[in-house]
Amino acid sequence: MAEVKYSGVRESKPGRVNDLGTTGKKAEEDFKKGCLKRADRSFAQGLQCQQINSMAALMSLEDSVFISHSPQGCVGCAIMAIDMYRVGQAHRGIKNIENPRIIVTNLDQKSVVFGGEQKLREAVKKAVTRYTPKMIFVYASCASGIIGDDIDAICEDLSDEYPDQLIVPIHCEGFKSKICASGFDAAFISINKYILKKEKKEKIPGLVNLFAPTTVSFADQKEMERMMSLIGAQVNYIPFYSSLEKIRRIPQAEASTSICKVFADEFMKELEEDYGIPYSHTVMPIGIRNTDIWYRGIAKVIGKEKEVEEIIEKEHLRIEPLVAEIRKRLEGKRVFICGGTGRSFAAAALIDDFGMQLVGLETPTYDGDAQADVEYLNNIHKDYVIDIANMQPFEQVNLLNKLKPDAFIGVPQWAAQLGYPTTHVLDGKRPTMGYDGLLYLGRKIADQLENPGFNVKLSKHAKLPYRDSWYNEDAFKYIID
Ligand code: SF4
Repeated sequence: MAEVKYSGVRESKPGRVNDLGTTGKKAEEDFKKGCLKRADRSFAQGLQCQQINSMAALMSLEDSVFISHSPQGCVGCAIMAIDMYRVGQAHRGIKNIENPRIIVTNLDQKSVVFGGEQKLREAVKKAVTRYTPKMIFVYASCASGIIGDDIDAICEDLSDEYPDQLIVPIHCEGFKSKICASGFDAAFISINKYILKKEKKEKIPGLVNLFAPTTVSFADQKEMERMMSLIGAQVNYIPFYSSLEKIRRIPQAEASTSICKVFADEFMKELEEDYGIPYSHTVMPIGIRNTDIWYRGIAKVIGKEKEVEEIIEKEHLRIEPLVAEIRKRLEGKRVFICGGTGRSFAAAALIDDFGMQLVGLETPTYDGDAQADVEYLNNIHKDYVIDIANMQPFEQVNLLNKLKPDAFIGVPQWAAQLGYPTTHVLDGKRPTMGYDGLLYLGRKIADQLENPGFNVKLSKHAKLPYRDSWYNEDAFKYIID
């Protein structure tokens, strides 16, 4: 029987659901019984598209051009990743800060009827003549997928015309998946297929691939690299602020790990199958517990179990008195958390360090990994609400209005407008990870709680677009089995 390769669509994995409104206890029980159903929403308020994640994952690669084979609007929300890329350059001491080189083919009504091939060819020509890049990534979109433009064949043909460029098609058509992390997988599938090509290379002793998404700050990169160097690993930090040379070094590593639970997890499996690279896939290193788990995971793979225990002991001695100080400021506070699958569960574990109580958790997917986290959280927190949602602010504000938490940790836009003290968990600009990151994050949460004035004022002047009656409805009324 032919080998079934992973398609890059996260929903294709059994037991993964992405529309659910329940409680921590019930989610745990239903998952164990195999009763979690793949539901849908009869009303939804926007969804993050996987194309943006494919683009954000690679946006900071040197000598690259990114062609979105799409209508103009598709790249609209790339702005968040562009902002992080620009700030990331500033943090790295780059004086002449650049924008990523993004070209949109601007598919329109005519293209839908006659095909968009010519526009894509022209875009590649412009990319080469303007920038002479080493890599050109061509991103599919809903429109190019629906009209059936064969971007693989076009890129192959153009590769003959432009032999100095690697032209890489990426299949991240928005309609293929409601889980935006599928976009990461689509990007990595193409990197393996078109750049690495299963070529085995000589190993570099001590080299470890450390996969990190755009949202990881420079401070977090340095903390992760510091921790890795303490166990004797030389880090190949991929793909953020990296290059073709560093990508080509991926198969030479002795091991791989990722900073995020849903970033490069599928790719690391491929790397093990295709290049024999063992990997560690555990949790996101936010908070003491998760940082310990993450650190032990990669140390085990590279045979540094004894060394890591000594380091962890020292780190605990260093940070525990400081954590105790923060705990005095935060103990007993009720928290609502919203973020990506990796960060939200990691943040939920982090609040335990500070004695805070979880009342609600919003995150895009629930699966076996989430179940392990929820089992852990259910031992600590009394029952809390779980909203499995890719975006859906209307559900979030409804829940906030009912649960009335003391603090909100996550993507803060709507909670801030309701006046809650907010701390951004997707903070690609400041430390959040590792032993040092948790101190910074803890102090930031405490500062926000003690200085809520800005959000309180904001709530007096901002009006969310919902009727008062919505706040009395069941937050999950539009989720249908
Ligand atoms: S690719 Fe599809 S889902 Fe993504 S932005 Fe474009 S139209 Fe929207």
